[in-house]
Amino acid sequence: MNKIALAALLPEEICSFFSLSPSFRGNQIFQWIGKGADSFDAMTNLSAELRTSLAEKAILRSTRVSDVLKADDGTIKLQIETEDDLAVETVLLTDKAGRKTACVSCQAGCAMGCAFCKTGTLGLARNLTAAEIVEQFLYLEKHAGTLDNIVFMGMGEPLLNLDALRKAIAVLTDKRGRNLSSRRITVSTVGIVSGIYDLADKGPAVRLALSLTTADEETRKELMPASSTNSLRDLRQAISYYIEKTGKRVTLEAVLLSGKNMSEKNADSLIAFAKDLDVHVNLIPWNPVEGLPFATPDARETAQFVSRLEKGGLNVTLRMHRGKSISGACGQLGKTNVKDECCT
Ligand code: SAH
Ligand code: SF4
Repeated sequence: MNKIALAALLPEEICSFFSLSPSFRGNQIFQWIGKGADSFDAMTNLSAELRTSLAEKAILRSTRVSDVLKADDGTIKLQIETEDDLAVETVLLTDKAGRKTACVSCQAGCAMGCAFCKTGTLGLARNLTAAEIVEQFLYLEKHAGTLDNIVFMGMGEPLLNLDALRKAIAVLTDKRGRNLSSRRITVSTVGIVSGIYDLADKGPAVRLALSLTTADEETRKELMPASSTNSLRDLRQAISYYIEKTGKRVTLEAVLLSGKNMSEKNADSLIAFAKDLDVHVNLIPWNPVEGLPFATPDARETAQFVSRLEKGGLNVTLRMHRGKSISGACGQLGKTNVKDECCT
């Protein structure tokens, strides 16, 4: 018998699956899962009989951690294996103020093929289940204590796995369990126009980040194949709709590729794209990926681009490299030879 994965069940689903009454039993089990219980025996307020019955029909984790890598800057990367032997990575980032953010994957691999991204070189193996998504967060909390934020910026494209993403968010934000605030959740998209409208209309109202990379249509098509069916004009309209509908400022992300998307013309297009939109711009100097034909800009090229954007009236943040020594930085997630890269 295939056992059910408990990490993605809401209390009422737990009750119905196990025919439990009274309903507070479902809440108790749900609470234990949110607290990261990793054995049924740890659920001390349940009867031994109920614990045995749970263990017969359900599993607390459908994935397992196969490796833990730690960098000097506090970044932790977990390599996780699914039941069908796929490797997925999830990362914990700690900022200077000590805030901890989980960077979670939604797919094993990615079909979008962005030219600068390691995950893009893998192709898509499959969507992750809601349980596999929630478990990444639970494993990270086990390693690092209570986390402050979650960003769906790991492997894969979240808006192409919306059902599982929604379910995972519903579980993590439920007041009866982990009770994470949706203000602390960011979904990052390559720019799937239909997905942005879907999220705006049906929720959840999370923070949205658009990986714009460049507002120059031809360069964007060259770097990001998904742009051919999601034009900049349509994307801008979708972002504007999202801001209006949710009242939330959107982040525009741009990975900085030396000599590729940092010219004066690129800056002007970005300023024009952002005009009259309530957006913030996050710049991420390219994290090197072996075999890919790009270069990280130096401090001068970066500063010049930042200054052009600021002169154009944009709010700009330059994101620090974190986790580079363990290939845990943005765009560096992919199947890696763990033994070669471990730095602890
Ligand atoms: N698929 C989603 C989320 C995962 S990628 C998306 O594309 O938004 C998360 C972020 O990493 C994106 O903003 C992407 O542009 C950026 N990224 C990808 N490869 C990178 C690299 N090598 N260096 C720096 N950022 C990179
Ligand atoms: Fe996929 Fe995002 Fe990487 Fe593009 S940047 S290949 S969408 S994970």
